[in-house]
Amino acid sequence: MVHAPWPRLVVASGNPGKLREFRALLAGLATEILPQTELGVPSPVETESTFMGNALLKARHAARLTGLAALADDSGLEVDALGGAPGVWSARYAGEGADDAANNARLLEALAGFAEPRRARYRAVIVLVEGPDDPAPLIAEGSWEGRIATTARGVGGFGYDPLFLVGEGGQTAAELPAELKNRISHRAQALAALLARVRAR
Ligand code: IMP
Repeated sequence: MVHAPWPRLVVASGNPGKLREFRALLAGLATEILPQTELGVPSPVETESTFMGNALLKARHAARLTGLAALADDSGLEVDALGGAPGVWSARYAGEGADDAANNARLLEALAGFAEPRRARYRAVIVLVEGPDDPAPLIAEGSWEGRIATTARGVGGFGYDPLFLVGEGGQTAAELPAELKNRISHRAQALAALLARVRAR
């Protein structure tokens, strides 16, 4: 159990898939975890062009509206054949408000004609602020290498997981047990690094 210096921590995300993972990943942190959606905090417009910029923006926004310490991640998929797209625009790849199915369809369309292996990686940057004006936010990153499949498989995870072939294996992230994804994913790696820094404080 990692002892946190704050009794309550708001998680600055409205994405149900991410919140499910954060709840599992933060189970070892001795603090009450509150999704911002439960506190009536709307998602801010993500105006930055980097994962770090958007993660910081989301964490500060949630801290400002709740008065609590806040944790946010910004994450996405980078595909080599697409020059790193969809990157920070992963959630809106098929347009503002697009759902996972539309984003996955757009990705398959963009990659039609590209030979395998279609190398890609998920990236996550996680930021923790003790308040909106915290001058020294804790920041950690993680990445997870894989390839993009030609057809979607699996029902677990969220987002691009049905198309993300894990490592050199034949399974997609959506076919992995949740406990396994939560041990090896970009988000798991970033959060482990962040918690190590909380412990070292
Ligand atoms: P954000 O909420 O702006 O950080 O958007 C992140 C987007 O990246 C999600 O909506 C997904 O499309 C994609 N993404 C990030 N992490 C994952 C993951 O673990 N699995 C699948 N898709 C992910």
